[in-house]
Amino acid sequence: MFASLFVTVALALFGCVSAAPQKRALAQVYSKCTVANTVALTFDDGPYVWLYDISKALIAAGGKGTFFFNGNNYGCIYDDANIKRVKYAYDKGHQVASHTWGHKDLTTLTWDQIHDEMWRVELALQRICGVQPAFMRPPFGNYNNLVREASSVRGQSLAIWDFDSGDSLGVSAQESKNRYDTVVRQRPSNILALNHETIVTTSQQVIPYAIQKLQAAGYRLVTLAECLGQQPYQWVGTPQTKDMFASLLVTAALALFGSVGAAPQKRAPAQVYRKCTVANTVALTFDDGPHAWLYDISDALSAAGAQGTFFFNGNNFGCIYDDVNVQRIKHAYDNGHQVASHTWSHKDLTTLSSAQIHDEMERVELALQRICGVQPAFMRPPLGNYNNLVLEVSGARGQDVAIWDFDSGDSLGASAQESINRYDEVASQHPSSILALNHETIASTSEQVVPYAIQRLQQAGYRLVTLAECLGQQPYQWVGEPQTRDSNWTC
Ligand SMILES: [Zn+2]
Ligand SMILES: [Zn+2]
Repeated sequence: MFASLFVTVALALFGCVSAAPQKRALAQVYSKCTVANTVALTFDDGPYVWLYDISKALIAAGGKGTFFFNGNNYGCIYDDANIKRVKYAYDKGHQVASHTWGHKDLTTLTWDQIHDEMWRVELALQRICGVQPAFMRPPFGNYNNLVREASSVRGQSLAIWDFDSGDSLGVSAQESKNRYDTVVRQRPSNILALNHETIVTTSQQVIPYAIQKLQAAGYRLVTLAECLGQQPYQWVGTPQTKDMFASLLVTAALALFGSVGAAPQKRAPAQVYRKCTVANTVALTFDDGPHAWLYDISDALSAAGAQGTFFFNGNNFGCIYDDVNVQRIKHAYDNGHQVASHTWSHKDLTTLSSAQIHDEMERVELALQRICGVQPAFMRPPLGNYNNLVLEVSGARGQDVAIWDFDSGDSLGASAQESINRYDEVASQHPSSILALNHETIASTSEQVVPYAIQRLQQAGYRLVTLAECLGQQPYQWVGEPQTRDSNWTC
């Protein structure tokens, strides 16, 4: 379904009980360079065999180019030959960017499908080069507002062009050269030039000629980012090797691979919250669902005028896309509780690579986008375990990390009475606020502990609010519209 057309209707139907609706921003679209006397030569549809010749011609002339890679167009980006090509381009200081996964016309796709086309090639560039690209060129140059919204959510600007060599339109090498001659005669302040690395005459004839002509006309041949005065990447981290666990080898990998293509930008790590900040609030949080006891917990909270926070897994006690689980999550969200990420499959994130952490986070975020139409702003790492890599990845994804300062003990084998005693104890100590860990997967939590805790905490003068409210923050990075089920809703 095309989100932009249905925002108003969906908002009216589902409401956004937990947050003021935030309109999704539109990504910037660049069709021209902005820096005088620059030319950005860009090359689409690779990685392909002619990449080496193009790179060599550019480097020999002291220039740089920009490669917009597909994930699976002329070949799979994970083939050894293609990994080498992508690495080679990056290590030579050219800019690497996304041309999306399968070279589909993005204007024919749904919100989910656009994200999928973008995410998969971003993950490949994270793995191969250790970078998150800041630019995406939509195949055929086609985009609409939905594409711009998805790109904005992903932190990517759209790159079009103001000069086309025509090489993908079937023009001869001579005609492409003539086009370069014509634009050089016109001598615009700068040029953003479209070429294709998949065309042999482009690499063997047109580009060597164009480099010479453009430099003779006084242009500097720079990356797209440089011709726009911008950064090429959202962050620069660590490249992976196939099946390598980056977190164990970060230092070695940085030493081995370096970050040749750009000044390393430190990712802003996520905030870690262990305590609420608003006085007289309690955030009751519930991990490991969606599960059968969600309804009882949600209804007990609602009956008391209270709200809670559910940290959902994608595939832990069951698949998040099962009908019963979709209904549970919708029930929680529609009743004003906060929904948040507990990652996909409840792995210890400190044992995973950067790409694996992204995968664990991306999949449950996508599920919450589909089911509730929201992008969560909070993630609770399974077991409460995190390291610097987890904080970097979470920061890159715009998510803060939520721990707790009170544990009911329900997942540690505490009896219902013991959990009740723990709530009694903390209520009588009366701290300014409480961030409480519970699990919706435990029957006695829903049937005995939560009803008791609600009453006890309210009697002690606390307001029972969402995690976001107890921190004075927004629960979601954005609020859009829920989707309807399609064949992609699988675990
Ligand atoms: Zn293309
Ligand atoms: Zn858990």
